[in-house]
Amino acid sequence: MEQTGHFFTTIYGRNLIAELPIFVHRPYLVVTMKDLWPKFSALFDDGLAHVHFVETLEHDELNGIIAGLPGCNAVIGLGGGQAIDVAKLVAWTRRLPLFQVPTAMSVNAAFGHRAAVRMGGKVRYIGYAVPEAVYIDFDVVQGAPLALNRSGVCDILCYHTAHADWKLAHERGKTEAKWPYDPRLVAEARGVLDSVLAKLDDIRDVKEEGIRTLMNAHRWGGAAFHNAGWNPRHIEGVEHFFFYTLEYLTGKPFIHGQPVCLGLYIGSALQDNRAEEMLDAVHRVGVDIRPEAMGVTWDEAAEAMRKMAWYTEQAGLWFTVASDKPVTEDFIAHIRERVTAVYGPWQG
Ligand SMILES: [Zn+2]
Repeated sequence: MEQTGHFFTTIYGRNLIAELPIFVHRPYLVVTMKDLWPKFSALFDDGLAHVHFVETLEHDELNGIIAGLPGCNAVIGLGGGQAIDVAKLVAWTRRLPLFQVPTAMSVNAAFGHRAAVRMGGKVRYIGYAVPEAVYIDFDVVQGAPLALNRSGVCDILCYHTAHADWKLAHERGKTEAKWPYDPRLVAEARGVLDSVLAKLDDIRDVKEEGIRTLMNAHRWGGAAFHNAGWNPRHIEGVEHFFFYTLEYLTGKPFIHGQPVCLGLYIGSALQDNRAEEMLDAVHRVGVDIRPEAMGVTWDEAAEAMRKMAWYTEQAGLWFTVASDKPVTEDFIAHIRERVTAVYGPWQG
C-alpha cells in the first residue's frame, strides 16, 4: 500500500542527551519531571534557559505556566508521556523547534502530533507539534524501571481487540459514518502488531532489538491517528474503554499499559477472539495484569467490567463488544480464575 502519512524522524544511539546542547537552538528550555532531573542535569550547559518540572496537565494551569516561562529558542522534552506532552504544548504555543527524548518505552506520546492534557479533569488531545527528531538512547531506556518499559507493549497489543471491535461494529451496522471499516488500515496495524509479537522476549528483557521493535511500533502507532484522518478505530477499542472505566470508578493513577493489558484479555474473551493467546503474550512479556499489581482490588476490576458499556455510552465513545455483549457474573469469575491461574495468587 502506498503510504502517504508522515512519521517522526527517530534516531537510536547512545550518549544522545549529552549531544543535545551542541546543536539545539540556544537558549533552550527543558521540560521534564522533578525525579528525573538529577539523573540528567549535568548533561546540559549554560545554554539552558530554564527547566520546567511538570506538575499539572490541566490545560488552564498549563497556559498560565507557559505564558510565564522565560524566552527560549528551542524546547527539549525529556521523560515519559507527561513531560513529552507538555513539551509539545510549549512548542506549539510558542512555535519553537522541538526535540523529544522519551526515557522509557511506556507510551507513544513522542510520536504523536497532539498533546494529551486535561480539561476539567477529562483527557483532551490538542495542538500539533512535529519534533525535529525523537532521540532514543539505549542506555537511558535500559535505565528506566522494568515495569514501565514492559507496559508499553500494551498500546500495540491493543490493536488485536480494536480490530475485532471495528469488524463487529461493521457487521452490526454500527460504525461511525466518518470511520467506515477499512481493511487496509487493519492490515497495516496487524503488521505492526505481529512485529511486536515476534519479539516479546527481547522487549521483556529490554534488549536493543526489543527497544527498536517496540519504539518503531510506537512510531507507527503515534502517527496512526493523524495518518488515518484522525481515525482511532484500528488502534484503540474495548481494552482502553475498560481502563477508562476503571480509572473513572477508582480515581487512582495507573501505569497505562497494565489496565489496558487486562482490558485486552477481558475484551478478547468477550469477543471470543484468541483470548488465551493474548493472555499468554501479556504474561510472557512480563506485564502483571492482576488488579492488585496496579493498586486496585478484584472487586473494583469486576465493577469496571460491569460498567464498561455504561461508561462507553455516556462518554460518547465508539461501538465495541462492550456495547454488544453483556458482562455476566460467570464471565467475571472466569476472567479472575484464568488470570490467577496464569500469574498465580497475589502474594503482596
Ligand atoms: Zn493507550
